[in-house]
Amino acid sequence: MVRENEIRDAEVAVAAPAATDAGLVFIGRIRTPWTSRLTCPRQGRHDGPLCRIELFAPWGQALDGIERFERLEVLYWLHRSRRDLVRQSPANNGEVHGTFALRSPVRPNPIGTSIVTLTGRENATLLVRGLDCLDDTPLLDIKPDRTLFTPIAPPQPGDFQTGE
Ligand code: SAM
Repeated sequence: MVRENEIRDAEVAVAAPAATDAGLVFIGRIRTPWTSRLTCPRQGRHDGPLCRIELFAPWGQALDGIERFERLEVLYWLHRSRRDLVRQSPANNGEVHGTFALRSPVRPNPIGTSIVTLTGRENATLLVRGLDCLDDTPLLDIKPDRTLFTPIAPPQPGDFQTGE
């Protein structure tokens, strides 16, 4: 269920430490049809509405070559989220989960990610489908979808060991 900023039964908020400045810059903004969390989808769909990712100056030329990729990963800042819950109930049904076991927008650093389909570019603006954020959400980064890349080296014996 959609949350404004309330705390629900059995949820746990903590005194979050003061923010440190990691030097992040918002490189653009995302234009979507959704102005309310009541109507915003929980995850994007590739047959969803066309959205615009507008890069601020001077970042437009950083898009050069992007048309080669049909899918992109977009990272954005869920700027209207609270940031202090460690246990939360997204469905507001009494079931609580640790924040890092969820894709909820409520997290200490409210970074959202979506894999989007690129349908066009107009100078410093990308036209995409597959987003799930509110109109005017700040943009953090854009990368080609990682699944379009193959690993440079094949897995070696001993890779991926756990418990060390
Ligand atoms: N796809 C991203 C992910 O998995 O990292 C975000 C998933 S999150 C469940 C999507 C929800 O975040 C939306 O349904 C909406 O309720 C909320 N949301 C979207 N944009 C937001 C914003 N700018 N600030 C706060 N909440 C936002």
